[in-house]
Amino acid sequence: MYSPTEADAVIIGAGPVGLFQVFELGLLDIKTHVIDSLPEAGGQCIELYPDKPIYDIPAIPVCTGRELTHNLLKQIEPFSPQFHLGQEVTQLEKQADGRFLIGTSQNHHFLAKTVFIAAGVGAFQPRLLNLEGIDSLVGKQVFYHIKDPERFISKRIVICGGGDSALDWVLYFADKAASVTLIHRRDDFKAAPQSIAKMRALCAAGKMQLLIGQITGYETQEGQLTDIAITDIDSNTTLLPLDDLLIFFGLSPKLGPIAEWGLDIDRKQITVDTEKFQTSIPGIYAVGDINVYPGKKKLILSGFHEAALAAFAAAAYLNPEKQIQLQYTTTSPKLHKALGVKSPTFE
Ligand SMILES: Cc1cc2nc3c(=O)[nH]c(=O)nc-3n(C[C@H](O)[C@H](O)[C@H](O)COP(=O)(O)OP(=O)(O)OC[C@H]3O[C@@H](n4cnc5c(N)ncnc54)[C@H](O)[C@@H]3O)c2cc1C
Repeated sequence: MYSPTEADAVIIGAGPVGLFQVFELGLLDIKTHVIDSLPEAGGQCIELYPDKPIYDIPAIPVCTGRELTHNLLKQIEPFSPQFHLGQEVTQLEKQADGRFLIGTSQNHHFLAKTVFIAAGVGAFQPRLLNLEGIDSLVGKQVFYHIKDPERFISKRIVICGGGDSALDWVLYFADKAASVTLIHRRDDFKAAPQSIAKMRALCAAGKMQLLIGQITGYETQEGQLTDIAITDIDSNTTLLPLDDLLIFFGLSPKLGPIAEWGLDIDRKQITVDTEKFQTSIPGIYAVGDINVYPGKKKLILSGFHEAALAAFAAAAYLNPEKQIQLQYTTTSPKLHKALGVKSPTFE
């Protein structure tokens, strides 16, 4: 029998809007737990454009996706949110006592009084290698994430993909693994130019090999992966012996279980009102790219506004008899205390 973590507020999604939701709830003295399927916070900003400049965050003329995430994490530090990363929320059910039972793919459970769905375009999942039966080897000799790099030291590893993740791991393992082979479907990489240059230099020095082609099959012996079949552009297939296969085909978002939580959904987005950003189930709010309402614009600044109003609505939902005052962070001693800053004296 599990014992769920009790919470006033659980935020599903640690993208920019989920992170700012922590801040807005924190100002109203509501503590938060944040769950994300990815191993790090930042959502699309980190997964899709960490180094690209953003120009339309109010009062920040320019910052990259990574810088925005870093600053949001710094801004919410005073509220000590508890992060539960690398786990997808698979279950959300209202209980008889009005609270919400939340279950994750890591079998972690929460009982929350309010829930904030800040799930963006859905949970990012790795794109899979489409070969029959390969699933049974995932986590044994086939990997889409690397949790423990030590495990691959002195192994014959094959890395598949042409983006930054594939190249970063190729460079990391080049002098640590018994052998490193990079496979990509064409001789054109979408990775940092310096990483591509380093990879080519390692190939020229005979420290790794690059094969252009696709994995079209594999061989096993007694349940162990022994070889993969690689087919090149001329349709020639060769077998390559290996110990482990690491696949980095990128991540694709999936709405997944959110569609099954009984919320009103319109074309894969959760419908909300524009006063509270509440869903069709009172106590559950949806903010950021996941929601839809007349005039919705999928911008970070829209999500920030939604997070502020959803926080006020949740504070009233949690304490219906309490009057919630709007206070300024500039002048409110109460907010200064919450933020851990010294109250300035105003003349
Ligand atoms: C290339 C590109 C450039 C962009 N440039 C700009 C720009 O210049 N200005 C701008 O305002 N916007 C820009 N955007 C849009 C902006 O990134 C999004 O509006 C913003 O990321 C939405 O934030 P979010 O927190 O709602 O969702 P997301 O950033 O999508 O984060 C959602 C998080 O929820 C997690 N999640 C989803 N479902 C689950 C689940 N079931 N369990 C656990 N976790 C879950 C996901 O893993 C993800 O981390 C850009 C987008 C792209 C793709």
